Amino acid sequence: MSHPAVIASAKSVALSQHPELTALASLEAAGDLAFFWDLDGDQIDWVGAMEEFFDADLPTPASMAMFDTLMSESDALTHRQAITRHLAHGDRYECQYRLHGRKGASVWVHERGQVTLDANGRVTHVYGTLRTIDELKSQEAKLIHYADYDDITGHYNKRRLRESLDKAVNYVQHFSTTGAYLVVGIDRFSVINECYGFRIGDKLLNRVAQRLLHHLRIADIIGRVDGDRFGLILYHCTEDELVGAAERFIRVIAEEIFNTEQGAIPLTASVGGIIFPTQGVTATELMARAEIALQHAKRKGSSSFSQFKPMVSDKAVQTHNLALQDKVRRALQNKDLCLAYQPLVDATTHQAVSYECLLRMKNPDGTLMPAAEFIPVIEKLGLIRQVDWAVMDMALDELRANPDLDLGINVSPANISDGRWLNQLMENLAKDPSLAKRLVVEITETAAMDDLEQSSHFVNALKKSGCRIALDDFGAGFTSLRELQYLPVDILKIDRDFVKLLPDDAASIRMVQTLVGLASDLSLVTVAEGVETIEQANLLKDLGVAVLQGYYFGRPTTDPAWRLAHGDGQAVGQTGVFC
Ligand code: C2E
Ligand code: MG
Ligand code: MG
Repeated sequence: MSHPAVIASAKSVALSQHPELTALASLEAAGDLAFFWDLDGDQIDWVGAMEEFFDADLPTPASMAMFDTLMSESDALTHRQAITRHLAHGDRYECQYRLHGRKGASVWVHERGQVTLDANGRVTHVYGTLRTIDELKSQEAKLIHYADYDDITGHYNKRRLRESLDKAVNYVQHFSTTGAYLVVGIDRFSVINECYGFRIGDKLLNRVAQRLLHHLRIADIIGRVDGDRFGLILYHCTEDELVGAAERFIRVIAEEIFNTEQGAIPLTASVGGIIFPTQGVTATELMARAEIALQHAKRKGSSSFSQFKPMVSDKAVQTHNLALQDKVRRALQNKDLCLAYQPLVDATTHQAVSYECLLRMKNPDGTLMPAAEFIPVIEKLGLIRQVDWAVMDMALDELRANPDLDLGINVSPANISDGRWLNQLMENLAKDPSLAKRLVVEITETAAMDDLEQSSHFVNALKKSGCRIALDDFGAGFTSLRELQYLPVDILKIDRDFVKLLPDDAASIRMVQTLVGLASDLSLVTVAEGVETIEQANLLKDLGVAVLQGYYFGRPTTDPAWRLAHGDGQAVGQTGVFC
């Protein structure tokens, strides 16, 4: 390795004739630093953008012992462990840590490297590169915050509240006790927003949250679930105590007027409640049931309470699900499953760049049942594996018949963990390699993060076959940048939840901005789902989203344009954004 000083003095020589100078110029331009660590003498040589990492007034660390002093003890340990693990597994190591460098400030660093072994398998050298990732880290921190907290009240958002509710259910089950989940909805809040404007509306939401918080016991939890509704988790609450608790919360909102700069505003709230684990064991079902109870309460009038009363027994739900599974099984045999195609359009030209295949089941009366009504059930009961195989066949047939078409298909978590679907797809693509580049496989963010190692294997194998991979419903599950780096996906599909309140909701705008920033740092294409209005489309384009999908541009249809036009209709796919 050439010494940096020598390299610097010779910079005027044409770079192309001197590969080592080209390497130095590239490192400096990228703000990166390369190192070469000789373990025998514990000596490190550095080359590249030294000033990005080290304090110019202090000696550059010339040994690992010295370099270690620039990190916290735990970061130094992480660093060592990354190298040690790498020795066991081969390949390359990567790790991230903070370096106390420039003028006492710390900088986030991403290090990648490899070792050299001698003939006896002994490590002689480690070499690699350092890159600063402060910008990415601050985006990650923003994402963490938006992912957990509501920006109007500063309390938990729905996602985090759901997580806490799941924990509360585990807790009460463990101690054989009961808890309650309440959803408090401010009555006629839309009228308040209309009369006083959103600024006062937001202030009132904040004050309501404070009042509710004030009347919660220390271990109980509050979060904002949506617009005008708050969720409360009460540990240790019996069915008898539920009514009293709900009435207390109704009272604390109604009894005292809210003073604002636009005068005193009276508010009332209604409450829906449910007891767990007796009336539900997952946060999702408890939250949905409490919402039903709240709607019931609101129908009774303001300041009302209603407790969830199961309308159909669990047995009836089970019977319904089994019947639905049977129906899907018959549909599979009778070829009554079909695909509906929904366009994804270029955000600037509004031209279709691709279509997503969405599964439909034909009902006896000729209508079509949307995927949302049967996929969750068959995912739970296991039939989804065969269904995904059928979808793969139908989509590949469509691609073969239409050489200009780009299609996306959804694959369920069960087939991510079971290698057979992947093998079958690779076999099909190997027979006709022209298909792969026109196929996008969508996996949901939550499925991908469920078992990162498995998903990473799945995504890497798919990539090798030449198709592209999209992370579906992205943003809702909060994936960190670090995790994303293990998944070399091509496309981020921003969840409909972040689009539906646009163009007016500031938190949604910030979330989309953050996700677009994240995607751009990783050179990923962004797609916004659920675009229903031109205002949303324009704003999303201005925020930097590349591709749009939603009812505004076209509902999923089983009679797509290319079939109606017998092949000479509008051009499909391949406008460039997606390729
Ligand atoms: P997804 O992959 O996120 O698909 C988008 C869903 O949003 C579709 O519902 C689509 O009809 C709906 N949608 C599209 N634009 C809009 C809009 O502007 N507004 C609103 N409100 N909704 C919109 P669908 O077809 O019922 O599918 C639901 C979910 O079922 C899909 O979500 C996907 O996760 C799953 N799914 C669909 N087809 C398949 C399949 O073939 N295999 C597997 N494993 N899952 C599938
Ligand atoms: Mg999808
Ligand atoms: Mg989606």
